[in-house]
Amino acid sequence: MPEQHRPEPPHRTTTVETGRFCAARCSCGWRGPARRARSKARADAAAHGESP
Ligand SMILES: [Zn+2]
Repeated sequence: MPEQHRPEPPHRTTTVETGRFCAARCSCGWRGPARRARSKARADAAAHGESP
């Protein structure tokens, strides 16, 4: 992961699909559990963004 010279970026969450599963992933290195539904993965990401 490339380091950026910027002031404290917030938790940038994305979702990554691995096969049939989808998992939330964050720029801080956090990764959510694999979910079958992307909406679930997004919910994980949202929850992490609110309370890392
Ligand atoms: Zn994070």
